[in-house]
Order: sequence, then C-alpha cells, then structure tokens
Amino acid sequence: MSQTKGTIGVTTENIFPVIKKFLYSDHEIFLRELVSNAVDATQKLKTLSSFGEFKGSLDDMTVRVTVDKEAGTLTVSDHGIGMTADDIEKYINQIAFSGAEEFLEKYKDDANAIIGHFGLGFYSAFMVASKVEIRSLSYKEGAEAVRWECDGSPEFTMEPCDKAERGTDIILHIDDENKEFLEQARVDALLKKYCRFLPVPVISGKEQEWKDGKMADTDRDKVINITEPTWTKKPAALTDQDYRDFYRELYPGQDDPLFWIHLNVDYPFTLTGILFFPKIKNNFEVTKNRIQLYCNQVYVTDSVEGVVPEFMMLLQGVIDSPDIPLNVSRSYLQSDSNVKKISSYITKKVASRLEELFKADRKEFEQKWDDIKIFIEYGMLTDEKFCDAAMKFDLLKDTEGRYFTIDEYKELVSPSQTDKEGDIVMLYATDPTAQYSYIKAAADRGYSVLVMDGQLDSHFVGLLEHKIDKCRLVRVDSDVIDNLIPKSDRKAADLTPTQRDILTAMFNSQLPKVDKAQFLVSFEAMKETDAPVVVTQNEYMRRMKEMAALQPGMNFYGDMPDSYQLIVNTEQPVVKRVTAAADEALAAQVKPIEDEIEAKNAEITRLREKKDDAEAAKQADALSAEVSAARERQTKLVADYAATQPVVKQLLDLALLGNGLLRGEDLSRFIARSVSLL
Ligand code: ADP
Repeated sequence: MSQTKGTIGVTTENIFPVIKKFLYSDHEIFLRELVSNAVDATQKLKTLSSFGEFKGSLDDMTVRVTVDKEAGTLTVSDHGIGMTADDIEKYINQIAFSGAEEFLEKYKDDANAIIGHFGLGFYSAFMVASKVEIRSLSYKEGAEAVRWECDGSPEFTMEPCDKAERGTDIILHIDDENKEFLEQARVDALLKKYCRFLPVPVISGKEQEWKDGKMADTDRDKVINITEPTWTKKPAALTDQDYRDFYRELYPGQDDPLFWIHLNVDYPFTLTGILFFPKIKNNFEVTKNRIQLYCNQVYVTDSVEGVVPEFMMLLQGVIDSPDIPLNVSRSYLQSDSNVKKISSYITKKVASRLEELFKADRKEFEQKWDDIKIFIEYGMLTDEKFCDAAMKFDLLKDTEGRYFTIDEYKELVSPSQTDKEGDIVMLYATDPTAQYSYIKAAADRGYSVLVMDGQLDSHFVGLLEHKIDKCRLVRVDSDVIDNLIPKSDRKAADLTPTQRDILTAMFNSQLPKVDKAQFLVSFEAMKETDAPVVVTQNEYMRRMKEMAALQPGMNFYGDMPDSYQLIVNTEQPVVKRVTAAADEALAAQVKPIEDEIEAKNAEITRLREKKDDAEAAKQADALSAEVSAARERQTKLVADYAATQPVVKQLLDLALLGNGLLRGEDLSRFIARSVSLL
C-alpha cells in the first residue's frame, strides 16, 4: 500500500469544530469511548476464536492506557481484531452523516446524544487532541500494518507502517487546553469512573508500593477494573457476603445494605443488575450514591430518572442493559417504549422480591421494616402498580411495637373500632411520647393505636384511607376518644343554657394566650374517669396545614392559627364541683342578664321584620348595642369570678400541658399555683 491522502467522508462542512464546540462540557467521555472500542475489538477476536475463525494466540488480551507526559500523548492499545486499511476507510473515514445539522442543533448540549447518534465514539478523541494517530495490525492473515493520522481537519493521511503486534494503538496528541489528561491520577480517576467493570482487563500505570519513605511504582501493571462484576454472575453462585462486598466496592464507607434484589431478564429486553436497599442515614448519601447505569459493563450515567421508577431513586446499585438507548437525550429516553417496559419490570420485580422476603422470614422483615418503610411508602404513594402489590406486605406498627399487614390490622380492629356508621376507625399517633395521654385513653377503651411517625406518613394516611374500604384514620389526639369512634348517640352534656354560658365564659377568660393558636370551648359528657379537660386538634385542619407546609402556594392554610378544641368533661367530679359552685355564685346575677338579652333579641327580631321602616331600624340598632353591652357585663362578671377560682386555671393548664402548649411564663405560673394548691 502506498500513502493515501483523502478527505473524511462527512457531508457537513467539518465535523471537528462541531465536536470541539458542542461537546465541550462532556469531553472526558473520550476515554470511555476509546477504551470501549478497544474492549469491543478484544471481545470480537475472542468470539472469532471461539468459532474457530481465528487460530492465533489469545495470550495477552489486555487493554492498556499509557500517558507520556514528555511526548504529550495518551495511548489506548489493544490486542483485538485490529483494522486493515480497508477497515479504516470503511469504519473511520466514512461517517454516516445525514440530517446532521438539524440533529446537532437539537442536541448541541448533549455529547452522549451526538456521539451515540453518529457512532462517533472514535471521533470524540478530537475533543481533547490536536492530532490523532491510529496504528493497527489486523488479525487477518497476511494483513499489513497501517498508520492513519489526522490533525482535526477533514484531511487525513494513511500509510503502511511497522507494527509487529496484532491490535490497535490509538495515539492522542493532547492539545494545550486538555493537559489534565496527561496526569496519571486524572486518567486513573476517569478509568475508575467509566471502566471499572469492563469485561477485559484494563491496565493503567503501575501498582505502587511504600518504598524508602514514599510511594513508588513497582514493575507490576495496575489493573483498574473488575472484569466479572457481581451482577454478571448467577445469583445461585453468590453468597450474601459477595453482595455486601460488591456494595462496599460501589459505595465505600456506607453501612451494609438492608437487602438487595438481583435483576436478570432476557426477554423482552436484556437487563441485569443488582438493586440495594440502603440504610439511609442522611439525605446527602441519597443524592450522592445513586443507581448507576451501565451498557455492557461500560458506565454510562448515574442520572437514571426515567429508567427506574421514580421511587426507586432512593435505591442504590447498578443496572446494565444494552437495550436502554443510553446514548440519546433524556427526553427521548423517557418516551422510549423499551425504557417504559424496563421501568415497569423493575417495579414488578422489586415488589415480588419484597413479598418473597416477607413470606420467607417475616421476623427479619419486621426487624428491617422501620428502615425500609420509607421506600415502600414512597413507592406506594407514587406508583399505582407497586402500591397494589405492596398492600400484601406493607406493615403497620402499633404503639406496642407489634407489626401487622394491612389485612391483619383491619381484622384486629374491626370488632372494637367500628363506629355506628359501620366504618372502621384506625387511630394513629405521630409522636407516641407527646401523645401518651391520648394513647392511654384509647388503650383504656381496648383500642389499638398505630405509630405514624415517618417522613411520609402524613401522606400515607390519606393513601390508606383511599385503599381500605370503609375505613378512616384519625390521629388519636384529634378529638376525645368517644368522638373519634362514635358508637351510639351519646348522652349530651347535662347543662342548663345558663350553666353553659357561665362555664364557657369562665374557661375562655382563664385561657392563657398561646401564640398562633386559638381555642374553642365545648362540653361533652364523657366518662367520670376520663380527663376533666381535653385539648384536641381537628384532623382535617391539621392535615391541611401539614400539606401546606410541604407545598408552596397553599399559604392560606399555612398562615392560619392552629385551632384547638377545648373539651370540658361535664361528668368529671372536679368539673361537676366547679359547675355547681359557679352556678351558686353566679346564677342569680347571670340569669337576669340572660333574660334581658333574650327579651331584647326577640324585640330586635320583631323590629327587623318591619321592612322600609327607618324608625324601627334605628330602634333595633340601639337595642343591639344594648345586647352587646349586656353580654360584656355578663362576661366580665363571670371572668371576675373565674379569676378567684384557681382550679379552673389549673384544669386548663393541665390540659395544655399534655399538648405541649403550656410554655414560658404560663408554665412557671402553673407550677407556682400547683404548689400553693397543694
Ligand atoms: P462505534 O464504536 O459506535 O461503532 P466508533 O466511531 O467508536 O463507533 O468506531 C467506529 C468503528 O471503528 C468501530 O465500529 C470499529 O469497527 C472500528 N474501531 C474503532 N476502534 C477500534 C479498535 N480499537 N480496534 C478495531 N476496530 C476499531
């Protein structure tokens, strides 16, 4: 062969400026592309050999990456099939490039997309090199070694050369802006990132050893990859320790995973991988140590959005599939039908594996539950199919630390916790310590209380209600226990209207001012042994506020004060005594005021009925003012009396204390009053 000069077959003006300009941000991937090509060439030769089409020696089948700082070169060498001049003409010089401009415009920020689309792996070398040489000797019998060279313009030269060893050297003359790729440490780091699990040994530099007080190169080659990573092996051949070791290799310094799922599909797409359920300690680890995507053991990305179901973004591990169109842009990826299938396959597989684990060893599953609950709840909240599958193994924990499946729990509570409408009422606590008195009140009735203290539980409660027929979940402190699960029409508080007015005014007047809270006093005839005063928070309002806290744009609820119900138990002996004493002290004065208000209100109604009567309207307004004044007098009367009754304040403070609402000065006054009451 004589020397050839030619123009690279690109129909667009010049591809190299494009490569340099548009692929700028991702230029480190050139190394992945070149090493992958070398590995492919090596694998191809092994395949040919196994078919008997290549009879030569397969002794050294390593790929070698060498940097020569002085010469300014980075070389990727292999002992694979090599290329003849014809091969180079066909595979390197002729680049299929139709519709290029349009495509480039669209994907100019996405190097992977461009490279993948044009099969430009090799050309990515020009992102970092001012000149690229190929020296290659094909495996074919009688082949002549060939040298190709190109300086980044569309012109190349090709000529025969001396090369005794079969295979290919790709020599990059690194340009001035990319000198970093001549640093061994930088190259090693890139190889670790992209080539760590390639199936052919990749050698880069030498093993180092501590010698004469410093690290020095030995004469042993440094292999940077694991050629048979755990996910490529058969699950039956692996022990638990193998999985843990692999996890540690992937994410050094993390606690052992809770468990793992080995994926292995070959129809309708090919996919292998291992997903780990990590023990999450903080959010940082979740965002840092993510699932890695591989394509035939070549690292592609750890942005797996769209490939794995969203909730599995919390999992870790690897997914390897030649069928994921990895070299295309993200939006394309998400609409790809293969990817959708993969995503739903993974969902199914994860669900069935969890069910298996649950069935095989429920005890262990329960032990891990608190840690894995967040994955499962997240999955159930965001993925309908997963949710349906997970209804079988999702566990609910009660305040005594017992675990139930949803069906078991339904069965457990339905005899005692069905209300008069026939709905099952599940009670839950978000903070068992703070809500202790309410949990106790429920336990005294023989009710069970769930613990819902997880990050996602406020949403999960809503999901359970939606999924379980005729079922309601209420927080144990959202009302007095008998109102939470109303069994039959209960007897109303036994108070005359005057007593009710007096008591309401008394308790209202003695309430401490609590920041961002408002109270509504009401009366219930509970059991004699129940607490005298109970503070509860309306379930609906509380959920709205919790949601508002998580979602922007719902400030309307977020800014509202917390509203509490202050329920006075009229059957409780102390309350009875307070009522009787107040009745005796105040009824004689309050009754006439009430009669006056009633009479005036009747008159107002009568006057207002006279339409178009200006005089009547004026009289009604005057009477209204008198009614307000009478009310004020009454309130003051009662408040003055209440102020002389420390027990009223004491009852209120006790109830507030139980909810953590008694703070600061009010708390210290309470303590002082308690002492003096003793
Ligand atoms: P792709 O790998 O996507 O086909 P490339 O531009 O990376 O695109 O490579 C083009 C072709 O050049 C390859 O398909 C292969 O036939 C050939 N080639 C590249 N590198 C080597 C190599 N190291 N040994 C043998 N052939 C190679």
